[in-house]
Amino acid sequence: MREYNTEILSVGTELLLGHITNTDTRDISEMLSRIGVNVRYQTVVGDNPERLAQCVAIAKTRADVIITTGGLGPTCDDLTKQVLAESFGRKLVENAAEREGLYEYIRTGKDFTPNNFSQALLPEGCTVFHNRWGTAPGCAFEAEGKIVLMLPGPPNECVPMFREYGIPYLKKLSGEQILSHTVRIFGMGESAVDDLFAEEMNAMRNPSMAPYAKECDCLLKVTAKAKTEEEAEDMMAPVIAHVKEKLGEYVYGMDVECIEEAVLPLMKEKGLTFAAAESCTGGDVARRITEIPGASAVFLGGCVTYTNEVKSRLLGIDLELIEHNGAVSEPVARLMAERVRALTGADIGLGVTGLAGPDGDGVHEVGTVFVSMAVEGETYVRELRLGTFRTRSFIRRMAGNHLYDMMRRYLTGLKVL
Ligand code: ATP
Repeated sequence: MREYNTEILSVGTELLLGHITNTDTRDISEMLSRIGVNVRYQTVVGDNPERLAQCVAIAKTRADVIITTGGLGPTCDDLTKQVLAESFGRKLVENAAEREGLYEYIRTGKDFTPNNFSQALLPEGCTVFHNRWGTAPGCAFEAEGKIVLMLPGPPNECVPMFREYGIPYLKKLSGEQILSHTVRIFGMGESAVDDLFAEEMNAMRNPSMAPYAKECDCLLKVTAKAKTEEEAEDMMAPVIAHVKEKLGEYVYGMDVECIEEAVLPLMKEKGLTFAAAESCTGGDVARRITEIPGASAVFLGGCVTYTNEVKSRLLGIDLELIEHNGAVSEPVARLMAERVRALTGADIGLGVTGLAGPDGDGVHEVGTVFVSMAVEGETYVRELRLGTFRTRSFIRRMAGNHLYDMMRRYLTGLKVL
């Protein structure tokens, strides 16, 4: 089976100036890694034909697949097609369907200037990637033993086009199915996971396995290449079963992006609801669940109670109790979860209060957070020491992860604390 080494070539002076972040390359790389295609190089070049031509010449020497982003539009600095076509000795010819599509676009009354028609010029003999998300089409062709894919720059065009056309195009060429699954882990760091599986991972070829660190959790990715999807799945199944068994309760889900995505179906299955009273997370726990479609079936609402007064007024927690124990304390966290549960009528109430820094409260060190979960007849509180050197965003995200982890444990019958 052939291995494809890939170089992503992003074209855009704005990228070099730091005006925009190269999210296209990040997203394409991520999608390629999911199907087991190696990205060997990521290059950024400005809107300059000579320098772009140099980059293409270099990419030809070290990659089998060259994917360009940006520079496909009608403005004069959009030069990717011309340079790539020239570098591979292809002519640019007008594509009738794309030209017709552009007429259609004009009829809908959208902004259009005559130079937009240059977008219908594409390398002779290429496969056209019609752009349903914008106007500039992308394309793919094979020449000189290389595979070239060109995608427009705007991320809301580039990413869906790569997903819809680029990935299937590459999969078809390779004549093999490359599938992967991710096992998501919380409560054990990437290096501990790596330690646990290092020997096995080094010995594995197909399927292969690798650990990845995310901001507040980590994952193991298992990838298999085979003639059919079924074969690839069969090859991965025993590896995944083994990983799950070895990691036990640290595994929170498969092929999910975050812990709340694993919690939502568990809640739905049980027909339960929850609500959250948040202090240091400022609503992040609520935001995270509501980003997932279908959250309304399980999330009732909540409140951000940042100051002592608001904790007291909204949640009815005695101000003296807060002042006596401190807002960042076990009793306050406990009451936050219990009160928000009672106020909303939810099955599960969550509370979180802590010091996200950089200033402390004179009692606790920065990074101290109490997370709580109230259920019928019981309230659980975890005291976290997340580290004095951590960023606010880390502390907030980690606090949220712990809350969702407590829910997951409760819902699956594991020990919560
Ligand atoms: P258009 O049809 O809009 O002209 P294009 O293919 O010519 O598309 P560019 O002109 O290079 O694309 O970029 C258009 C916009 O897309 C940029 O201003 C930028 O906001 C965004 N963009 C371009 N490249 C990237 C990238 N690699 N990552 C993230 N955003 C990008």
